[in-house]
Amino acid sequence: MDILVVLEDKNGRIHRMSLEAIAGAQQIGSECGLSIGILAFGKNASALGEQAKQYDVEEVLTLENEHLNDYTADGYADAVANVITSENPTYIFFGHTYQIRDYAPRVSAKLKRPFLNDVVSYKNESGKPVFSKQAFNAKLIAELNPNSDGHILISFQSASFSSDNIQSGSASLRSISIEIDASAIKTVPEDPFQEAAGGVDLSSAELIVSIGRGIGKEENIPLVQELANVMGAEIASSRPVVDSGWLPAHHQVGSSGQTVAPKLYLALGISGAIQHVVGMKGSKNIIVINKDPDAPLFELADYGVVGDVLEIIPKLTKALQ
Ligand SMILES: Cc1cc2nc3c(=O)[nH]c(=O)nc-3n(C[C@H](O)[C@H](O)[C@H](O)COP(=O)(O)OP(=O)(O)OC[C@H]3O[C@@H](n4cnc5c(N)ncnc54)[C@H](O)[C@@H]3O)c2cc1C
Repeated sequence: MDILVVLEDKNGRIHRMSLEAIAGAQQIGSECGLSIGILAFGKNASALGEQAKQYDVEEVLTLENEHLNDYTADGYADAVANVITSENPTYIFFGHTYQIRDYAPRVSAKLKRPFLNDVVSYKNESGKPVFSKQAFNAKLIAELNPNSDGHILISFQSASFSSDNIQSGSASLRSISIEIDASAIKTVPEDPFQEAAGGVDLSSAELIVSIGRGIGKEENIPLVQELANVMGAEIASSRPVVDSGWLPAHHQVGSSGQTVAPKLYLALGISGAIQHVVGMKGSKNIIVINKDPDAPLFELADYGVVGDVLEIIPKLTKALQ
């Protein structure tokens, strides 16, 4: 196989970002003529393998081992490095999750192979994928063209590909086994990190009014609330709004908050840092209001207004009323 997608287990289901990595592998594989395999491992390997085999890939590998029943960075890194060495894929794809950020660098170090993390897109250059990531708060795009042969590890940022685009098929299943040196596992697992969630289910909201630091101060939140009420929208925010205590944590959208895909995302005074963008770039329509014409979020906007949110919000509310 040319591409190996390494799955993450989310309570017995394939993690949403692993599904996006499968969608990416299918897209890149079909454009660049690369074959695809999937690796399911850990205590739910067979359940994940059953889910994965319904996708249009060549084969699904399942790996069970008592030392992989609980997550440990060294155990997982050891297992994945072993599988890469024996199966010899050129590209190893992951979702850019907290778990992957924890153990993939160890795989990279063990194999002495590059790890291109946080990738958001690619282009096909004569059958070879060239990957892109954002740099300097999304002000620059870096193109990463690995110029060596051998294994290349790549993690994709959330929403770089849509799991809606996964092609169905029927892959063959192959159970594999590896030796894991239990004495090399030095870390002790604790409870999994819980991403922010709470009273507002932003993930199913159709209309979202989202505020950033540009809203200025907590006293301006009622202005936004009034607009959201008129629109029948939920309120979301960037992280500084939550860090300042202006809204509770479950309103936060982004890599450490919720991922949303509403019909309309109205972004007020949000600059467009990658950690925010990954949580909202799947929105169907994006309207950005920002006083800085160079704010990176304008690049994603279907409609953009350069202006002061504190002037525009009351006028918008009045017009909608
Ligand atoms: C590990 C990690 C995880 C993170 N997770 C998240 C996350 O989940 N979600 C998230 O959002 N961020 C997250 N961040 C923070 C992220 O990097 C940015 O700092 C944050 O998104 C910036 O928020 P902002 O756009 O509201 O603020 P800023 O970047 O300060 O932007 C404010 C914007 O408001 C505009 N503005 C100011 N006044 C006005 C006005 N009166 N009218 C109109 N426009 C105005 C400015 O021009 C500017 O563009 C994370 C960071 C790290 C390191």
